[in-house]
Amino acid sequence: MNNKYKILLVEDEENIKTFLSALLEASNYRVLSAATCKIAEIMHASHMPDLVILDLGLPDADGTTFIKTVRKSFATPIIVLSARSDERDKVNALDLGANDYITKPFGSAELLARVRSALRNSRVHNENSVLNGGKFVLDDFIIEYDARRVFIKGEEIKLTQTEFNIMAFLSGHCGKVMTYSSIIKEIWGYPDEGSVKKLQVNMANIRKKIGCKPGENKYIVNELGVGYRMVGKGE
Ligand code: CA
Repeated sequence: MNNKYKILLVEDEENIKTFLSALLEASNYRVLSAATCKIAEIMHASHMPDLVILDLGLPDADGTTFIKTVRKSFATPIIVLSARSDERDKVNALDLGANDYITKPFGSAELLARVRSALRNSRVHNENSVLNGGKFVLDDFIIEYDARRVFIKGEEIKLTQTEFNIMAFLSGHCGKVMTYSSIIKEIWGYPDEGSVKKLQVNMANIRKKIGCKPGENKYIVNELGVGYRMVGKGE
């Protein structure tokens, strides 16, 4: 019983909280819950959950306050729950360090898939950095950081410097949605009018080179209007 994953559910709406707790417990997760930002911070510090599901609209503070506090010291995966109207809040939450987001209303299967993926990726990420030294390894997909080379099924994929930098950055945050602005800041250092377009052109080239057909999400997922995410193991 002690080996269950612990999930901290931060949500003030009673209906959603009851529904999500039941859903997660039925899937064999242990659920702790908090209805305010303040209590969530205390619970996180004292229970060290494996994952946090966070509503952004909390009674005492914005959910992003929680993200800021936790990210000062911890890498706990955080999945944000947001209403469709909060597009800007969602992007802001991701830029502050949230791993993924799900838009209300959401389906049970989708939520559970996101939870599994976030838990798995935080584990893979740790294993990758410890076991593989200067390499990122995800099944048949390998990035050699020092040599700046990328391989798929043993075949080298020829990327430009910029394309490689984008791949390296996304792989360093595998499983996490990286917003356009966070990628642009990392790769070019500054945003300008054409930045998003420039990024999209580079991504289109990368996707072509790694054999992604249009609409297909192989290795990299296009989160429309938000950013990109390198997929994790088993996705
Ligand atoms: Ca709320």
